[in-house]
Amino acid sequence: MNRTPIIAGNWKMYKTVGEAREFAGVIRNHKLEGAVEMVVCAPFTALSALAEELKGSDVKVGAQNMHYEASGAYTGEISPGMLTDLGMSYVIIGHSERREYFAETDETVNKKAKAAFANGLLPIVCVGENLEQRESGQTKENVREQVIRAVEGLSSEQAKQLVIAYEPIWAIGTGKSSSAEDAQDVIGFIRSTVEDAFDSQVAMQVRIQYGGSVNPQNIASYMGQPDIDGALVGGASLAADSYLQLVQGV
Ligand code: PEP
Repeated sequence: MNRTPIIAGNWKMYKTVGEAREFAGVIRNHKLEGAVEMVVCAPFTALSALAEELKGSDVKVGAQNMHYEASGAYTGEISPGMLTDLGMSYVIIGHSERREYFAETDETVNKKAKAAFANGLLPIVCVGENLEQRESGQTKENVREQVIRAVEGLSSEQAKQLVIAYEPIWAIGTGKSSSAEDAQDVIGFIRSTVEDAFDSQVAMQVRIQYGGSVNPQNIASYMGQPDIDGALVGGASLAADSYLQLVQGV
């Protein structure tokens, strides 16, 4: 099974519209010949400008969150349809920072995953254990629960298009990345969890990224693992040259 690796940048709460345009200007002519999928997930305020700057390029644009309802009295929220309207391809769902600071739960992650597909968006669903869970040997139990709850009610066709990002929380923004072997071990386990939830065909097609202090120096070690299909990258995706090095390192 040939799965196209996907490098997704998560800018978090960084970059003005002008900075986003500048970044796009550097990466938009990068041609991939189908080897890697390039995605940039930006703050809401920069999405429109990025979509405009990257139109016709090989780079896709995504959001970092959304509401699951189509519309309504939800002050400050953004709907899936609003993202589609802007030309978004992807949306990150259930990032650990959203789970920790903004009350995201397995239930809302599931609602958002369904809403994403219903609106033509591909969800990048984040799962991962915290340090305490890691140290007490609960990593797999925790990610299994998160994955099973996230995919509940999705069709097999939807699940095949899903992107899962395995992001150990202790590795995010800390410079302490998981070893490639440990990441492979958990990601292989996530793939078998998807097989349990659907079937082997879905499990072979679903793309599973590693995330957590990935940089141009260590990306190749992750890509050398059989079940790792790319990376979700925060800090090292902020500079255009570093982002391109990540893509070239696949
Ligand atoms: C992230 O934001 O999802 C992430 C993995 O951040 P960093 O690459 O900075 O660890």
